[in-house]
Amino acid sequence: MSFVIFNPIVGEIECVGSTRSRYVRISVRSDGSLLLTYPRFSSVDDAIAFAEKRAEWIRTARRKMAERVANYPTISLKEREALRRDAHSVIPTLVATLAQRHGLSYTSLRISSAHTRWGSCSTKNGISISLFVMLLPEHLREFIILHELCHTRHHNHSAAFHALLDTLTNGKEKALNRELKAHRIPRIKS
Ligand SMILES: [Zn+2]
Repeated sequence: MSFVIFNPIVGEIECVGSTRSRYVRISVRSDGSLLLTYPRFSSVDDAIAFAEKRAEWIRTARRKMAERVANYPTISLKEREALRRDAHSVIPTLVATLAQRHGLSYTSLRISSAHTRWGSCSTKNGISISLFVMLLPEHLREFIILHELCHTRHHNHSAAFHALLDTLTNGKEKALNRELKAHRIPRIKS
């Protein structure tokens, strides 16, 4: 369940009631928008009141995010289309190979031009991979695909999920995550 409200103090908020949330959480996305997740069966008004109380923190987080985004690498549309072609020739085989090697299965594969995430996995085990993984070194590209493939078995970031991913990466999940953090998805040159 998700909806967007316009709050007079903190602006637009996307509210997501989640059965997996244990407490209220606020995050600022790279475009400055706010995401508010809260336990599915608790009051959304309480969650919004919590966001209002953190208005100062939100202002600071937005400013920091804007600074970070200003430092993002950029890419032209033409370069992106070249990446898309590369992605279509490389990713389907790579995903199929990794899935087979580790005995994991997915129902569909989509190559997206997402700027906000490297990949995702739906509840129906449809995998989506951002074409921007083509900018990453090969081992990190594989790491992202493995991450999404592990979600076909665990649709969350539980301990069981991390244990599986860590096994498939020979105990390097944490190190690979750290390495990945140094990479940014580029913005399109305007
Ligand atoms: Zn994940």
